[in-house]
Amino acid sequence: MPDKKIALFPGSFDPFTKGHQDIVRRALKLFDEVVVAIGYNSAKSRYFEVEYMVERIKSAFSPEESVSVIVYNELTADLAKKTDALFLIRGLRNTTDFEYENSISQVNRYLNDKLETVFLITSPDYAHISSTIIREVHKYDGDISPFIPYEL
Ligand code: ADP
Repeated sequence: MPDKKIALFPGSFDPFTKGHQDIVRRALKLFDEVVVAIGYNSAKSRYFEVEYMVERIKSAFSPEESVSVIVYNELTADLAKKTDALFLIRGLRNTTDFEYENSISQVNRYLNDKLETVFLITSPDYAHISSTIIREVHKYDGDISPFIPYEL
């Protein structure tokens, strides 16, 4: 049993947004450490390169904040065992997120019964932010700086 309460925050983060940063900061009030884990499968293409996004996410937090960033390519439930994380953080924006997250959390419980999924409801200021929309805006040369917590 680890002494520290470690929470894993898994996602594609393509790109990491102010909504994601808000979830991490709020999770830090509940847990000792948050590990942002970028799920990466080299067979699937990304818009922002994964190593670039690791650096950008790190730059969005101060050294005092207990946040680390890793890349993984395996079951999230297995990654949690390896990182001693007993908690999985997911953000919920709306009922669509809920339907999807509900099924994933049931599967994760089956795969690792020591892992508890904790859902944080998005703050109203960030509820409209999605990585998909940000990618579209960026693709057509729109300014995405209001939606991301770092310089590109
Ligand atoms: P995935 O591909 O696993 O859904 P994302 O990078 O899109 O990965 O999202 C990671 C997590 O962050 C998910 O739990 C998602 O619901 C949540 N999330 C996404 N956008 C926001 C937002 N604007 N506010 C709060 N949570 C969010």
